[in-house]
Amino acid sequence: MEQETLDKINKLTRRPLTEDEVYVFSVVLCDNEIDRDGERFSDKALEELKDRFVGKTGIFDHNAAAVNQNARIFETELVTDDSRITKNGEPYKYLKASAYMVRTDENKNLIAEIDGGIKKEVSISCSAAKRICSICGCDKNEAACSHVKGKSYGDKQCCTILSDITDAYEWSFVAVPAQINAGVTKKYFASSNASESDKNFEGWISPEEASVLHETIKGNEATIADLTAKNKEYEISTAKMKIAYETGLPFELSERLSGDTEDEIRKDAEKLARYTSSGKESPRFNAESAVKSTENAEYMDMLEKLRG
Ligand SMILES: [Zn+2]
Repeated sequence: MEQETLDKINKLTRRPLTEDEVYVFSVVLCDNEIDRDGERFSDKALEELKDRFVGKTGIFDHNAAAVNQNARIFETELVTDDSRITKNGEPYKYLKASAYMVRTDENKNLIAEIDGGIKKEVSISCSAAKRICSICGCDKNEAACSHVKGKSYGDKQCCTILSDITDAYEWSFVAVPAQINAGVTKKYFASSNASESDKNFEGWISPEEASVLHETIKGNEATIADLTAKNKEYEISTAKMKIAYETGLPFELSERLSGDTEDEIRKDAEKLARYTSSGKESPRFNAESAVKSTENAEYMDMLEKLRG
């Protein structure tokens, strides 16, 4: 690594880093090709982005939370590739950025991935004050025209030219399978409408909100299941008492009746009733019957005597 490169990096760091501590790589941030949205950056916009992206931190989307997976741009360069012509018929121009990461145990694998040439798609966020129609030159932020993006007018295809960059927010690195064309994507914000990204997610809830909602629903479901089970329990208990009374069973036996439906309980009760009614003592349904039964009375007497 050249001392000059390290010097540029160290302008951005809190303490001077050594050559061994840093990992340097380069990415293409954006270009002048018409993108999937039918938009492209003007030469002026590329120049502005070149200045604005120096010092900007990029994140690796698969691990945005990990602090050590951040990279920072320390140098940008506009490169013209004369061997390639854009859809617009101009030489291909792109904004190349050099970024560094401080080597850590956590980003070892990531560095190996980048070294291994796994293709990455870079996504940038920026704000453009002007959106120029490529056919008539009007600023779509100020006036509407009849030209439609992607449609051909004569030999020219209409696109929107993004110009006058007012801010560059961030860049992120997305690993994509090698067979997919690793193009440049961008999130674009018109400065007159900086909350474009909020608008895109209007009506959506954040993952945090979703997880809270999910927990609440789970809790409510558990409560409903619990109440339903309790209600069923009460219903069965009431049915057992009612059937015990109707079939002339002692109160104590009502809870011992089996069955989940009134029919089943009734059948069981009738069976038991035949048994109990064959005995001499077959007290009717009565909460006091337990105490009044001869057997219990004898126990009570015995208890009285023991106490005495
Ligand atoms: Zn137009």
